[in-house]
Amino acid sequence: MKKKVLIIGSGLGGLTTALRLASDGYEVEIVEKYHQAGGRLNQLQKDGFKWDMAPTFFSMSFEFKEFADYVGIDMPFEFIELDPLYQVNFAGSDKFYTVYKDLKKLAEEFKDLEPDFERRMQQYLKSAATIYHDTEYRIVKKNFTSLTDYLLQLTRVPIRNAPKMLRTIWKEMEKYFTSYEVKVIFSLVAFFLGATPFDTPAVFSMLTYTELVHDGYYNVRGGMYKIVEGLLDEMKKQNIRIHYDTEIVDYLEGKDGLRGFIDQKGEIWKADLFVVNSDAAWFRGQIFNRKGYTENKLDRKKWTLGPFTMYLGIKGKLDHIHHHNYFLGNNFQEYASKIFKNSIGLEKPYYYLNMPSRHNPDTAPEGHEALFILCPVPDLRYKPDWSDREELANNIISDLSQRIGYDIQSNLVSKTIYDPVNWKNMFNLYKGSGLGLAHDLNQVGGFRPNNRDEKFGNVYYVGSSTVPGTGLPMAVISSKLVTQRINHEQKSVYKKQSANQ
Ligand SMILES: Cc1cc2nc3c(=O)[nH]c(=O)nc-3n(C[C@H](O)[C@H](O)[C@H](O)COP(=O)(O)OP(=O)(O)OC[C@H]3O[C@@H](n4cnc5c(N)ncnc54)[C@H](O)[C@@H]3O)c2cc1C
Repeated sequence: MKKKVLIIGSGLGGLTTALRLASDGYEVEIVEKYHQAGGRLNQLQKDGFKWDMAPTFFSMSFEFKEFADYVGIDMPFEFIELDPLYQVNFAGSDKFYTVYKDLKKLAEEFKDLEPDFERRMQQYLKSAATIYHDTEYRIVKKNFTSLTDYLLQLTRVPIRNAPKMLRTIWKEMEKYFTSYEVKVIFSLVAFFLGATPFDTPAVFSMLTYTELVHDGYYNVRGGMYKIVEGLLDEMKKQNIRIHYDTEIVDYLEGKDGLRGFIDQKGEIWKADLFVVNSDAAWFRGQIFNRKGYTENKLDRKKWTLGPFTMYLGIKGKLDHIHHHNYFLGNNFQEYASKIFKNSIGLEKPYYYLNMPSRHNPDTAPEGHEALFILCPVPDLRYKPDWSDREELANNIISDLSQRIGYDIQSNLVSKTIYDPVNWKNMFNLYKGSGLGLAHDLNQVGGFRPNNRDEKFGNVYYVGSSTVPGTGLPMAVISSKLVTQRINHEQKSVYKKQSANQ
Protein backbone atom coordinates (compact mmCIF):
# COMPACT_ATOMS: atom_id res chain seq x y z
CA MET A 1 0.00 0.00 0.00
CA LYS A 2 1.17 3.53 -0.76
CA LYS A 3 2.54 5.51 2.20
CA LYS A 4 0.56 8.68 2.82
CA VAL A 5 2.24 12.09 3.21
CA LEU A 6 0.44 15.15 4.55
CA ILE A 7 1.99 18.51 3.61
CA ILE A 8 1.22 21.55 5.76
CA GLY A 9 1.24 24.57 3.46
CA SER A 10 1.03 25.08 -0.29
CA GLY A 11 3.92 27.51 -0.83
CA LEU A 12 6.32 26.74 -3.68
CA GLY A 13 8.25 24.43 -1.34
CA GLY A 14 5.07 22.50 -0.44
CA LEU A 15 3.77 22.21 -4.01
CA THR A 16 7.07 21.04 -5.51
CA THR A 17 7.58 18.53 -2.68
CA ALA A 18 4.05 17.21 -3.25
CA LEU A 19 4.76 16.53 -6.92
CA ARG A 20 8.19 15.03 -6.28
CA LEU A 21 6.84 12.64 -3.63
CA ALA A 22 3.82 11.69 -5.74
CA SER A 23 6.16 10.81 -8.60
CA ASP A 24 8.13 8.65 -6.14
CA GLY A 25 4.99 6.66 -5.33
CA TYR A 26 3.62 8.35 -2.21
CA GLU A 27 -0.02 9.32 -1.74
CA VAL A 28 0.00 13.07 -1.04
CA GLU A 29 -2.51 15.49 0.47
CA ILE A 30 -2.07 19.17 1.41
CA VAL A 31 -3.71 21.40 4.00
CA GLU A 32 -3.45 25.17 3.54
CA LYS A 33 -4.41 28.01 5.87
CA TYR A 34 -5.03 30.57 3.09
CA HIS A 35 -7.92 30.44 0.63
CA GLN A 36 -5.71 29.74 -2.39
CA ALA A 37 -2.40 28.02 -3.15
CA GLY A 38 1.07 29.53 -3.55
CA GLY A 39 1.95 30.99 -0.15
CA ARG A 40 3.98 34.13 -0.77
CA LEU A 41 3.99 33.29 -4.48
CA ASN A 42 0.38 34.40 -4.63
CA GLN A 43 -1.88 36.63 -6.65
CA LEU A 44 -4.23 39.50 -5.95
CA GLN A 45 -7.08 40.28 -8.37
CA LYS A 46 -9.13 43.44 -7.93
CA ASP A 47 -10.90 46.14 -9.98
CA GLY A 48 -9.93 44.45 -13.28
CA PHE A 49 -6.20 44.29 -12.36
CA LYS A 50 -3.96 41.33 -11.45
CA TRP A 51 -0.81 41.59 -9.36
CA ASP A 52 1.71 38.99 -8.28
CA MET A 53 1.59 39.43 -4.53
CA ALA A 54 5.33 39.13 -3.79
CA PRO A 55 7.90 37.48 -6.09
CA THR A 56 8.24 39.30 -9.41
CA PHE A 57 11.20 37.42 -10.90
CA PHE A 58 13.50 34.52 -10.23
CA SER A 59 16.99 33.42 -11.10
CA MET A 60 18.49 29.91 -11.43
CA SER A 61 15.80 28.76 -13.85
CA PHE A 62 17.72 25.48 -14.18
CA GLU A 63 16.35 24.47 -10.76
CA PHE A 64 12.81 24.52 -12.20
CA LYS A 65 14.04 22.42 -15.13
CA GLU A 66 15.64 19.92 -12.75
CA PHE A 67 12.32 19.74 -10.88
CA ALA A 68 10.26 19.13 -14.04
CA ASP A 69 12.70 16.40 -15.15
CA TYR A 70 12.56 14.72 -11.74
CA VAL A 71 8.76 14.66 -11.79
CA GLY A 72 8.71 13.66 -15.46
CA ILE A 73 6.59 16.54 -16.77
CA ASP A 74 6.98 19.30 -19.33
CA MET A 75 7.70 22.70 -17.76
CA PRO A 76 4.23 23.76 -16.59
CA PHE A 77 4.82 27.46 -17.33
CA GLU A 78 6.80 29.59 -19.78
CA PHE A 79 9.87 31.62 -18.75
CA ILE A 80 10.58 35.08 -20.14
CA GLU A 81 14.17 36.15 -19.73
CA LEU A 82 14.50 39.78 -18.64
CA ASP A 83 17.14 41.97 -20.23
CA PRO A 84 17.72 44.67 -19.08
CA LEU A 85 17.51 43.26 -15.60
CA TYR A 86 16.54 46.42 -13.74
CA GLN A 87 16.92 50.19 -13.43
CA VAL A 88 18.06 52.26 -10.49
CA ASN A 89 17.35 55.91 -9.73
CA PHE A 90 18.90 57.96 -6.92
CA ALA A 91 16.91 60.79 -5.31
CA GLY A 92 17.53 64.20 -6.83
CA SER A 93 18.76 62.82 -10.16
CA ASP A 94 16.96 62.26 -13.48
CA LYS A 95 19.34 59.50 -14.41
CA PHE A 96 18.10 55.90 -14.44
CA TYR A 97 21.02 53.45 -14.44
CA THR A 98 20.18 50.37 -16.48
CA VAL A 99 21.65 47.01 -15.52
CA TYR A 100 22.20 44.81 -18.57
CA LYS A 101 23.31 41.20 -18.63
CA ASP A 102 25.66 41.97 -21.49
CA LEU A 103 28.94 43.10 -19.93
CA LYS A 104 29.88 45.40 -22.81
CA LYS A 105 26.54 47.27 -22.59
CA LEU A 106 26.85 47.35 -18.82
CA ALA A 107 30.35 48.83 -19.05
CA GLU A 108 29.05 51.51 -21.43
CA GLU A 109 26.33 52.41 -18.91
CA PHE A 110 28.81 52.85 -16.04
CA LYS A 111 31.86 54.16 -17.89
CA ASP A 112 31.49 57.72 -16.56
CA LEU A 113 31.20 56.54 -12.97
CA GLU A 114 33.78 53.80 -12.75
CA PRO A 115 36.96 53.90 -14.84
CA ASP A 116 37.86 50.45 -16.11
CA PHE A 117 34.43 49.10 -15.15
CA GLU A 118 34.51 46.06 -17.45
CA ARG A 119 37.79 44.69 -16.09
CA ARG A 120 36.76 45.36 -12.48
CA MET A 121 33.38 43.69 -12.96
CA GLN A 122 34.98 40.70 -14.67
CA GLN A 123 37.24 40.22 -11.67
CA TYR A 124 34.37 40.62 -9.23
CA LEU A 125 32.30 38.06 -11.13
CA LYS A 126 35.20 35.64 -11.37
CA SER A 127 35.57 35.68 -7.62
CA ALA A 128 31.76 35.36 -7.14
CA ALA A 129 31.72 32.41 -9.57
CA THR A 130 34.37 30.66 -7.51
CA ILE A 131 32.36 30.77 -4.31
CA TYR A 132 29.20 29.71 -6.18
CA HIS A 133 30.78 26.63 -7.75
CA ASP A 134 32.84 25.76 -4.66
CA THR A 135 29.73 25.65 -2.44
CA GLU A 136 26.94 24.56 -4.81
CA TYR A 137 27.20 20.82 -4.13
CA ARG A 138 29.23 20.87 -0.92
CA ILE A 139 26.87 23.18 1.00
CA VAL A 140 23.82 24.59 -0.81
CA LYS A 141 22.43 21.39 -2.32
CA LYS A 142 23.31 19.12 0.56
CA ASN A 143 21.47 17.57 3.50
CA PHE A 144 23.35 17.55 6.79
CA THR A 145 22.83 14.86 9.41
CA SER A 146 24.25 16.96 12.25
CA LEU A 147 26.17 20.12 13.03
CA THR A 148 29.38 18.07 13.00
CA ASP A 149 28.51 16.76 9.56
CA TYR A 150 28.01 20.37 8.38
CA LEU A 151 31.27 21.59 9.91
CA LEU A 152 33.09 18.68 8.31
CA GLN A 153 31.56 19.56 4.97
CA LEU A 154 32.65 23.20 5.43
CA THR A 155 36.25 22.03 5.68
CA ARG A 156 35.86 20.66 2.13
CA VAL A 157 35.10 24.14 0.75
CA PRO A 158 38.42 25.40 -0.67
CA ILE A 159 40.16 27.73 1.78
CA ARG A 160 40.42 30.50 -0.85
CA ASN A 161 36.77 31.37 0.01
CA ALA A 162 37.41 31.92 3.74
CA PRO A 163 37.85 35.73 3.54
CA LYS A 164 34.36 36.01 2.02
CA MET A 165 32.91 34.53 5.19
CA LEU A 166 34.46 37.27 7.24
CA ARG A 167 33.82 40.25 4.95
CA THR A 168 30.43 41.77 4.17
CA ILE A 169 29.12 42.25 0.62
CA TRP A 170 29.79 45.99 0.99
CA LYS A 171 33.44 45.39 1.91
CA GLU A 172 33.74 43.03 -1.04
CA MET A 173 32.37 45.77 -3.35
CA GLU A 174 34.93 48.20 -1.92
CA LYS A 175 37.71 45.83 -2.94
CA TYR A 176 36.73 46.03 -6.59
CA PHE A 177 34.91 49.32 -7.19
CA THR A 178 35.41 52.98 -6.28
CA SER A 179 32.12 54.55 -7.41
CA TYR A 180 29.47 54.96 -4.69
CA GLU A 181 26.64 54.36 -7.18
CA VAL A 182 28.24 51.20 -8.57
CA LYS A 183 28.78 49.82 -5.08
CA VAL A 184 25.18 50.56 -4.09
CA ILE A 185 23.64 49.17 -7.28
CA PHE A 186 25.51 45.87 -7.29
CA SER A 187 25.09 45.27 -3.58
CA LEU A 188 21.29 45.51 -3.82
CA VAL A 189 21.29 41.71 -4.14
CA ALA A 190 21.60 41.60 -0.33
CA PHE A 191 18.01 42.88 -0.17
CA PHE A 192 16.87 39.76 -2.08
CA LEU A 193 18.01 37.88 1.00
CA GLY A 194 15.97 40.28 3.10
CA ALA A 195 19.02 41.95 4.62
CA THR A 196 21.50 44.71 3.77
CA PRO A 197 24.99 44.60 2.18
CA PHE A 198 26.43 45.82 5.49
CA ASP A 199 25.39 42.70 7.39
CA THR A 200 25.36 40.06 4.65
CA PRO A 201 28.51 37.93 4.23
CA ALA A 202 30.38 38.37 0.95
CA VAL A 203 29.75 34.72 0.10
CA PHE A 204 26.41 35.97 -1.22
CA SER A 205 28.17 38.02 -3.89
CA MET A 206 27.48 34.77 -5.76
CA LEU A 207 23.98 36.21 -6.38
CA THR A 208 25.48 38.83 -8.70
CA TYR A 209 27.12 35.98 -10.59
CA THR A 210 23.77 34.17 -10.91
CA GLU A 211 22.02 37.34 -12.12
CA LEU A 212 24.65 38.52 -14.62
CA VAL A 213 26.31 35.32 -15.82
CA HIS A 214 24.97 32.01 -14.62
CA ASP A 215 21.42 32.36 -15.90
CA GLY A 216 19.93 35.85 -15.41
CA TYR A 217 16.45 36.94 -14.34
CA TYR A 218 13.16 35.47 -15.43
CA ASN A 219 9.53 36.41 -15.39
CA VAL A 220 6.71 34.11 -16.45
CA ARG A 221 4.35 34.60 -19.37
CA GLY A 222 1.01 35.64 -17.90
CA GLY A 223 2.55 36.55 -14.52
CA MET A 224 4.39 34.70 -11.76
CA TYR A 225 1.19 33.07 -10.49
CA LYS A 226 1.21 30.93 -13.65
CA ILE A 227 3.88 28.88 -11.82
CA VAL A 228 1.33 27.95 -9.17
CA GLU A 229 -1.48 27.38 -11.67
CA GLY A 230 0.79 25.12 -13.73
CA LEU A 231 1.77 23.10 -10.66
CA LEU A 232 -1.88 22.80 -9.57
CA ASP A 233 -2.79 21.38 -13.02
CA GLU A 234 -0.08 18.75 -12.63
CA MET A 235 -1.28 17.96 -9.12
CA LYS A 236 -4.81 17.31 -10.38
CA LYS A 237 -3.40 14.71 -12.76
CA GLN A 238 -1.68 13.04 -9.79
CA ASN A 239 -4.82 13.18 -7.59
CA ILE A 240 -3.13 15.37 -5.01
CA ARG A 241 -5.86 17.16 -3.07
CA ILE A 242 -5.51 20.53 -1.31
CA HIS A 243 -7.81 21.57 1.51
CA TYR A 244 -7.93 25.37 1.81
CA ASP A 245 -8.90 27.49 4.83
CA THR A 246 -7.44 24.72 6.99
CA GLU A 247 -4.93 25.86 9.57
CA ILE A 248 -2.94 23.40 11.67
CA VAL A 249 -3.01 24.54 15.30
CA ASP A 250 -2.05 21.42 17.28
CA TYR A 251 -0.70 17.88 16.99
CA LEU A 252 -1.38 14.36 18.13
CA GLU A 253 1.51 12.28 19.36
CA GLY A 254 1.59 8.52 18.86
CA LYS A 255 3.79 5.69 20.11
CA ASP A 256 6.10 5.72 17.12
CA GLY A 257 6.09 9.36 16.17
CA LEU A 258 3.52 11.91 15.14
CA ARG A 259 0.04 10.49 14.51
CA GLY A 260 -1.64 13.55 13.14
CA PHE A 261 -2.17 17.30 13.10
CA ILE A 262 -5.27 19.07 14.34
CA ASP A 263 -6.81 22.01 12.46
CA GLN A 264 -8.64 25.07 13.78
CA LYS A 265 -11.99 23.24 13.61
CA GLY A 266 -10.68 20.29 15.63
CA GLU A 267 -10.42 17.93 12.65
CA ILE A 268 -7.52 15.44 12.84
CA TRP A 269 -5.31 14.92 9.77
CA LYS A 270 -3.50 11.58 9.86
CA ALA A 271 -0.71 10.28 7.64
CA ASP A 272 2.42 8.12 7.73
CA LEU A 273 4.70 11.08 7.09
CA PHE A 274 4.36 14.85 7.42
CA VAL A 275 6.15 17.68 5.62
CA VAL A 276 5.79 21.14 7.14
CA ASN A 277 6.02 24.02 4.65
CA SER A 278 5.01 26.56 7.30
CA ASP A 279 8.01 28.52 8.66
CA ALA A 280 10.32 25.83 10.09
CA ALA A 281 11.36 27.89 13.12
CA TRP A 282 7.95 29.41 13.94
CA PHE A 283 6.17 26.05 13.60
CA ARG A 284 8.54 24.30 15.99
CA GLY A 285 7.82 26.96 18.59
CA GLN A 286 4.13 27.69 17.99
CA ILE A 287 2.79 24.21 17.26
CA PHE A 288 5.31 21.83 18.87
CA ASN A 289 6.15 24.16 21.82
CA ARG A 290 9.85 23.37 21.52
CA LYS A 291 12.07 25.00 24.12
CA GLY A 292 14.64 26.08 21.53
CA TYR A 293 11.99 28.06 19.66
CA THR A 294 10.14 30.09 22.29
CA GLU A 295 9.13 33.63 21.31
CA ASN A 296 12.00 34.93 23.37
CA LYS A 297 14.50 32.77 21.51
CA LEU A 298 12.98 33.47 18.10
CA ASP A 299 13.10 37.20 18.83
CA ARG A 300 16.83 36.91 19.39
CA LYS A 301 17.39 35.35 15.97
CA LYS A 302 18.03 37.48 12.94
CA TRP A 303 14.97 37.81 10.68
CA THR A 304 14.62 39.32 7.23
CA LEU A 305 12.88 42.55 6.28
CA GLY A 306 9.21 43.20 6.87
CA PRO A 307 7.42 43.82 3.57
CA PHE A 308 5.26 46.91 3.06
CA THR A 309 3.59 46.22 -0.28
CA MET A 310 1.21 48.28 -2.43
CA TYR A 311 -0.84 47.15 -5.39
CA LEU A 312 -1.89 50.09 -7.52
CA GLY A 313 -3.99 50.33 -10.66
CA ILE A 314 -3.62 53.57 -12.59
CA LYS A 315 -5.17 55.24 -15.62
CA GLY A 316 -2.69 55.98 -18.43
CA LYS A 317 0.37 54.23 -19.87
CA LEU A 318 3.94 54.47 -18.54
CA ASP A 319 5.91 53.36 -21.57
CA HIS A 320 9.21 54.58 -20.14
CA ILE A 321 9.07 52.36 -17.03
CA HIS A 322 10.89 49.01 -16.98
CA HIS A 323 9.83 45.77 -15.35
CA HIS A 324 12.03 46.21 -12.22
CA ASN A 325 13.00 49.59 -10.78
CA TYR A 326 14.71 50.66 -7.58
CA PHE A 327 14.21 54.15 -6.17
CA LEU A 328 16.91 54.99 -3.66
CA GLY A 329 17.99 57.97 -1.58
CA ASN A 330 21.51 59.27 -1.06
CA ASN A 331 22.14 58.00 2.48
CA PHE A 332 22.33 54.28 1.65
CA GLN A 333 24.60 53.24 4.50
CA GLU A 334 22.69 55.15 7.18
CA TYR A 335 19.30 54.07 5.80
CA ALA A 336 20.28 50.39 5.50
CA SER A 337 21.77 50.24 8.97
CA LYS A 338 18.77 51.87 10.67
CA ILE A 339 15.69 50.85 8.73
CA PHE A 340 15.41 47.32 10.09
CA LYS A 341 15.35 48.53 13.67
CA ASN A 342 12.91 51.38 13.05
CA SER A 343 15.48 53.98 14.05
CA ILE A 344 15.08 56.09 10.92
CA GLY A 345 11.98 57.96 9.71
CA LEU A 346 10.02 56.63 6.75
CA GLU A 347 9.47 60.08 5.21
CA LYS A 348 11.98 59.34 2.47
CA PRO A 349 11.67 55.62 1.91
CA TYR A 350 13.73 53.44 -0.42
CA TYR A 351 11.48 51.22 -2.51
CA TYR A 352 11.16 48.86 -5.45
CA LEU A 353 8.64 49.25 -8.27
CA ASN A 354 7.50 46.46 -10.54
CA MET A 355 5.19 47.07 -13.48
CA PRO A 356 3.65 43.68 -14.33
CA SER A 357 1.67 45.18 -17.23
CA ARG A 358 4.96 45.86 -19.03
CA HIS A 359 5.39 42.17 -19.95
CA ASN A 360 1.90 40.88 -19.25
CA PRO A 361 -0.62 43.36 -20.67
CA ASP A 362 -3.61 41.32 -19.47
CA THR A 363 -2.78 42.29 -15.87
CA ALA A 364 -4.37 45.73 -16.44
CA PRO A 365 -7.42 46.93 -18.41
CA GLU A 366 -6.77 48.68 -21.75
CA GLY A 367 -5.11 52.07 -21.26
CA HIS A 368 -4.09 51.30 -17.65
CA GLU A 369 -1.02 50.04 -15.79
CA ALA A 370 -0.71 47.73 -12.80
CA LEU A 371 2.02 48.76 -10.34
CA PHE A 372 3.50 46.79 -7.46
CA ILE A 373 5.59 48.57 -4.85
CA LEU A 374 7.71 46.91 -2.18
CA CYS A 375 9.29 48.94 0.60
CA PRO A 376 11.47 47.08 3.14
CA VAL A 377 10.39 48.03 6.66
CA PRO A 378 11.09 46.93 10.25
CA ASP A 379 9.41 43.68 11.32
CA LEU A 380 6.83 43.64 14.12
CA ARG A 381 9.45 43.29 16.85
CA TYR A 382 10.57 46.84 16.10
CA LYS A 383 7.38 48.40 14.69
CA PRO A 384 4.26 46.56 15.86
CA ASP A 385 1.82 49.39 15.09
CA TRP A 386 0.97 50.09 11.46
CA SER A 387 -1.94 52.49 12.00
CA ASP A 388 0.21 55.11 10.20
CA ARG A 389 0.51 53.06 7.02
CA GLU A 390 -1.40 55.55 4.83
CA GLU A 391 1.28 58.11 5.59
CA LEU A 392 4.04 55.85 4.23
CA ALA A 393 1.87 54.94 1.23
CA ASN A 394 1.30 58.63 0.42
CA ASN A 395 5.02 59.43 0.80
CA ILE A 396 5.90 56.71 -1.69
CA ILE A 397 3.18 57.69 -4.17
CA SER A 398 4.17 61.35 -4.17
CA ASP A 399 7.92 60.57 -4.41
CA LEU A 400 7.34 58.11 -7.27
CA SER A 401 5.07 60.57 -9.13
CA GLN A 402 7.79 63.18 -9.01
CA ARG A 403 10.57 60.80 -10.09
CA ILE A 404 8.71 59.29 -13.06
CA GLY A 405 6.97 62.52 -14.04
CA TYR A 406 3.42 61.16 -13.76
CA ASP A 407 0.73 62.10 -11.26
CA ILE A 408 -0.18 58.73 -9.80
CA GLN A 409 -2.53 60.02 -7.10
CA SER A 410 -4.95 61.70 -9.54
CA ASN A 411 -4.93 58.68 -11.87
CA LEU A 412 -5.36 56.05 -9.17
CA VAL A 413 -8.24 53.63 -9.77
CA SER A 414 -7.25 50.82 -7.40
CA LYS A 415 -5.13 50.70 -4.25
CA THR A 416 -4.43 47.88 -1.78
CA ILE A 417 -1.81 47.93 0.98
CA TYR A 418 -0.34 44.99 2.91
CA ASP A 419 1.81 45.87 5.91
CA PRO A 420 3.77 43.35 8.03
CA VAL A 421 0.68 42.66 10.17
CA ASN A 422 -1.20 41.51 7.04
CA TRP A 423 1.75 39.40 5.90
CA LYS A 424 2.03 37.74 9.30
CA ASN A 425 -1.68 36.95 9.39
CA MET A 426 -1.95 35.68 5.82
CA PHE A 427 0.86 33.11 5.89
CA ASN A 428 2.06 32.83 9.51
CA LEU A 429 5.26 34.74 8.79
CA TYR A 430 7.08 35.26 12.07
CA LYS A 431 6.54 38.89 13.22
CA GLY A 432 5.82 39.77 9.59
CA SER A 433 9.34 38.91 8.40
CA GLY A 434 9.00 38.63 4.61
CA LEU A 435 11.73 36.13 3.76
CA GLY A 436 12.00 34.11 6.97
CA LEU A 437 15.23 33.61 8.91
CA ALA A 438 18.17 35.72 7.71
CA HIS A 439 21.31 34.21 6.21
CA ASP A 440 24.04 35.11 8.67
CA LEU A 441 26.73 32.46 8.89
CA ASN A 442 25.28 31.26 12.18
CA GLN A 443 21.86 30.77 10.55
CA VAL A 444 22.77 28.85 7.38
CA GLY A 445 23.66 25.23 6.60
CA GLY A 446 23.90 23.12 9.74
CA PHE A 447 22.93 26.12 11.89
CA ARG A 448 19.57 26.64 10.12
CA PRO A 449 16.54 24.72 11.45
CA ASN A 450 17.01 21.25 9.96
CA ASN A 451 14.63 19.74 7.39
CA ARG A 452 14.19 16.71 9.66
CA ASP A 453 12.38 17.09 12.98
CA GLU A 454 14.46 16.64 16.14
CA LYS A 455 11.84 14.52 17.91
CA PHE A 456 9.46 12.89 15.43
CA GLY A 457 11.10 10.55 12.91
CA ASN A 458 8.17 11.00 10.51
CA VAL A 459 8.15 14.85 10.36
CA TYR A 460 10.15 16.91 7.85
CA TYR A 461 10.34 20.57 6.78
CA VAL A 462 10.60 22.42 3.48
CA GLY A 463 10.79 26.14 2.64
CA SER A 464 12.49 29.42 3.44
CA SER A 465 13.46 28.96 7.09
CA THR A 466 14.96 25.51 6.67
CA VAL A 467 17.79 24.55 4.29
CA PRO A 468 19.07 25.97 2.05
CA GLY A 469 17.30 29.36 2.42
CA THR A 470 14.97 31.91 0.95
CA GLY A 471 13.77 32.76 -2.58
CA LEU A 472 11.97 30.74 -5.23
CA PRO A 473 14.90 28.67 -6.56
CA MET A 474 15.88 27.86 -2.97
CA ALA A 475 12.33 26.62 -2.28
CA VAL A 476 12.69 24.28 -5.25
CA ILE A 477 16.09 23.08 -4.00
CA SER A 478 14.60 22.69 -0.52
CA SER A 479 11.96 20.35 -1.99
CA LYS A 480 14.72 18.33 -3.63
CA LEU A 481 16.64 18.04 -0.36
CA VAL A 482 13.64 16.99 1.72
CA THR A 483 12.54 14.47 -0.92
CA GLN A 484 16.03 12.93 -0.99
CA ARG A 485 16.01 12.78 2.79
CA ILE A 486 12.57 11.17 2.99
CA ASN A 487 13.40 8.60 0.33
CA HIS A 488 16.69 7.76 1.98
CA GLU A 489 15.50 7.61 5.58
CA GLN A 490 12.04 6.14 5.16
CA LYS A 491 13.16 3.31 2.92
CA SER A 492 15.50 2.15 5.67
CA VAL A 493 12.75 2.62 8.33
CA TYR A 494 10.29 0.52 6.31
CA LYS A 495 12.96 -2.08 5.58
CA LYS A 496 13.68 -2.36 9.33
CA GLN A 497 9.95 -2.57 10.18
CA SER A 498 9.29 -5.38 7.71
CA ALA A 499 12.36 -7.28 8.94
CA ASN A 500 10.91 -7.14 12.49
CA GLN A 501 7.44 -8.32 11.44
C1 LIG B 1 7.35 40.89 -0.70
C2 LIG B 1 8.16 39.71 -1.13
C3 LIG B 1 8.81 39.73 -2.36
C4 LIG B 1 9.54 38.61 -2.79
N1 LIG B 1 10.12 38.64 -4.03
C5 LIG B 1 10.79 37.55 -4.48
C6 LIG B 1 11.30 37.53 -5.81
O1 LIG B 1 11.12 38.47 -6.60
N2 LIG B 1 11.98 36.41 -6.21
C7 LIG B 1 12.18 35.33 -5.39
O2 LIG B 1 12.81 34.35 -5.82
N3 LIG B 1 11.68 35.33 -4.13
C8 LIG B 1 10.99 36.39 -3.66
N4 LIG B 1 10.44 36.39 -2.40
C9 LIG B 1 10.66 35.21 -1.54
C10 LIG B 1 9.73 34.06 -1.91
O3 LIG B 1 8.41 34.54 -2.01
C11 LIG B 1 9.76 33.00 -0.84
O4 LIG B 1 11.10 32.65 -0.54
C12 LIG B 1 9.02 31.72 -1.27
O5 LIG B 1 7.83 32.01 -1.95
C13 LIG B 1 8.74 30.94 -0.01
O6 LIG B 1 8.15 29.72 -0.31
P1 LIG B 1 7.96 28.67 0.85
O7 LIG B 1 7.66 27.36 0.20
O8 LIG B 1 9.08 28.71 1.80
O9 LIG B 1 6.71 29.07 1.73
P2 LIG B 1 5.50 30.09 1.77
O10 LIG B 1 5.32 30.80 0.51
O11 LIG B 1 5.60 30.89 3.02
O12 LIG B 1 4.29 29.06 1.96
C14 LIG B 1 3.99 28.45 3.18
C15 LIG B 1 2.51 28.13 3.18
O13 LIG B 1 2.19 27.49 4.42
C16 LIG B 1 0.93 27.97 4.87
N5 LIG B 1 0.86 27.78 6.32
C17 LIG B 1 1.62 28.38 7.27
N6 LIG B 1 1.28 27.92 8.50
C18 LIG B 1 0.29 27.02 8.32
C19 LIG B 1 -0.48 26.23 9.20
N7 LIG B 1 -0.28 26.25 10.54
N8 LIG B 1 -1.45 25.42 8.69
C20 LIG B 1 -1.67 25.38 7.33
N9 LIG B 1 -0.96 26.12 6.45
C21 LIG B 1 0.01 26.93 6.94
C22 LIG B 1 0.94 29.44 4.48
O14 LIG B 1 -0.36 29.97 4.44
C23 LIG B 1 1.63 29.38 3.11
O15 LIG B 1 0.69 29.22 2.06
C24 LIG B 1 9.66 37.47 -1.96
C25 LIG B 1 9.01 37.45 -0.71
C26 LIG B 1 8.26 38.55 -0.31
C27 LIG B 1 7.50 38.50 0.99
